[in-house]
Order: sequence, then C-alpha cells, then structure tokens
Amino acid sequence: MLTDSFNRKIDYLRLSVTDRCNLRCAYCMPSGGIRLIERKEMLSFEEILKAAGILSEMGIRKIRITGGEPLVREGIIDLIKQIKKIENITDISITTNGILLNKYLDELHKIPVRSINISLDTLDRQKYKKITRGGEINRVLDAISNSINIGIESVKVNVVITSLLDEEDIKGFAAMTLDKPVHIRFIEMMQPAGNDGIPEAVECSIIGGIDSLEFNDLRPGNPGHGLNPVDTIFSVMKKIGEYHAVNDKMGNGPALYYKFKQSRGSIGFIINDKNLCSYCNRIRLTPYGTVKLCLFSDKEYDIKKKMRDNRCAADIKAEIAEFVKAKPQNREESCRYVNKEKASINFQLKDFMNRIGG
Ligand code: SAM
Repeated sequence: MLTDSFNRKIDYLRLSVTDRCNLRCAYCMPSGGIRLIERKEMLSFEEILKAAGILSEMGIRKIRITGGEPLVREGIIDLIKQIKKIENITDISITTNGILLNKYLDELHKIPVRSINISLDTLDRQKYKKITRGGEINRVLDAISNSINIGIESVKVNVVITSLLDEEDIKGFAAMTLDKPVHIRFIEMMQPAGNDGIPEAVECSIIGGIDSLEFNDLRPGNPGHGLNPVDTIFSVMKKIGEYHAVNDKMGNGPALYYKFKQSRGSIGFIINDKNLCSYCNRIRLTPYGTVKLCLFSDKEYDIKKKMRDNRCAADIKAEIAEFVKAKPQNREESCRYVNKEKASINFQLKDFMNRIGG
C-alpha cells in the first residue's frame, strides 16, 4: 500500500497521456500557444504501461486518463484496453472535452470505462466558441447525452467558472440535473503557471480565428464586490427550487455536492479553499514521464529517466515510496512551498494544465 506522511492511502492515478489538445481554452493556454513536448520526450505506450504497472503494484487501483485532450492521442483506445488489463486496476475513467467522444464512446463503454468527465463552461454556442477558441458546442452536448444514454455509470460535466458564465447558463446546467443522471461541477478557476498568470507564449499552434480572449478576460469579477461567483450560483439555484447537500461521498475528488428534490443528478463545487485536498488520495503521471504529487507542487520524480536507464522496478518502487512522503498536506501547504518567497498564498498552478491534466 502506498501512503504519504499524513497516512493517506494513495490509490488513485491521474494519467495525462498527451499535452496536445484540439481546443485552446483561454484559461488553459495563451492565444500565442505554448511550447509542446517533443515527441521523444513523451512517454511511449510501452512506458506508460510499465509505469502504470509499477504504480499498481504499489497500491494504485484507480486510473483517470486525462491530457491535453486524451482522445487526440493516436491509439488511445488500445492503450486504455491495455491499462484495464493491468492486475489490480479496478476502475478506469476519462476526462475529455467531448469533441471526439461520440466517435469513441461505444468502445469506451465496452472496455468498460466507468466514469466520463466532460468539460463544458457554458451552454451558449457563441460563448463556447470564444472560451475554447473555436470549439463546436453541439458535439459536446451530443456527447453528454450519448454518454448518459449508453449507460456510462458516472457522467460529470466540469464547468470552470468564467466571467462569461451567466444566469442562463447556471439555470440550464441546473435543469440538466433535474431529469438526467448527470453531475455538474462548478470549478473555481485556478491561476495558470507563468508570470501574473499569463503563461509564456512561445509556439503558435492555434486554431485560427477567435483568439482575442486571454485568462484575465475570463477571470470572474472581484469577489470583494457584491456576490462572489459561487454565491451567485447558489442564489440562482435558490430561484429554481429547494436543494440540499448530498452527504454520501461521490467519487474521490474535492467537490461538495447538492441536489434539488427529486433530481436525478447533482450540482457540485470545487473551490480554491486553502484546506482543500487535505484528504487527497491521488498522484499524477505527466506525458513527459514524471510523477507529480499535486497540481500546485513542482516536485517531480522522473520515472521516465529511471525506466530508460533500465533501473529495476524494485529500486523505482523504493524511490517512489520515499518521494510520496513529500506530498503536501493540503493546497495551502503546496502553494506555500511553491511561492515560498511570497508572503501571501497564491493558488497558482505550477505547470500548464494541458500538461499536468486537470
Ligand atoms: N482536455 C480534457 C478536458 O477538457 O476535460 C482534459 C484536460 S483539461 C486540462 C482538464 C480540466 O481542467 C478541464 O475540465 C478544464 O476545464 C480544467 N482546467 C484547465 N485549466 C484550468 C484552470 N486554469 N482552472 C481551473 N480548471 C482548469
């Protein structure tokens, strides 16, 4: 069993299979693009399987495939099938923007992938195009319906709270939970890596056209003035009807969930609270082959190098067991470490989300 120094059992791996993405969400990537990982630096499928195998022998039981956009990596379905065959892996799930999901849904369902998280930050076609810099919302809406209809056990919609999220969106998302077994999760935006939250723009690899928005344009209004965005969502929910907190634990994540009377789905919140993550059970594997302890930590264990140097699995396991002891207790501790020279705590990501995987 893999445990950290706070005696938390680590049994969940977020596996980011690529940094490539077919969208360019403005809060995730700058319009100028970012430096992509060189192919030779990316883990091959064999290396991913070997790393996942080693980690499963150490206690990892659940794996969520993410990216970049995982479905753009060629051969992804075969990779997921192989991961499913690893002894001890009991649960496999995926986080996707949904653009290619309709194409792969049947196969994912057959594997079976138990849970699919789909990212969608608005229900308005034009706003979606703006936020994602070119995405077609209908493909995502179809993917959500089809995932529910085909019988995926858990379908969640990740909604990052941007300045473009309005009452219509909130009502629409809430309405989805009334008659569909879908879980909407409103996520407070995290500041991306880089100076002042604006990641370094180095390589242009952009879908043409709509590229005017940047992270700061999507940052919701100053919470010090009037209602903060989360309060606004609650106030809209109040207008819709009575709701109550859901007590049973849903998944491993940090979300708190609420339900309207008789609704089939639920509404969750993932907010940038300093204590958030104190019961975290996950580690991450990046597409460039490092194990990470937290989204906000820059500590990495280079498992790719060890594997390419032909180090034996026993040595790697011993080093990972030691490395995991450095997992920060919570988000505050992680950010304090990252920003140790600063007096205030700044919930800023240490790497680009398209690399670490959200
Ligand atoms: N491409 C897939 C997708 O869109 O779901 C998987 C990778 S994406 C990085 C995973 C999640 O991270 C998405 O739900 C996305 O909205 C979220 N995300 C990206 N940047 C974020 C930020 N700055 N703050 C909060 N969530 C973010």
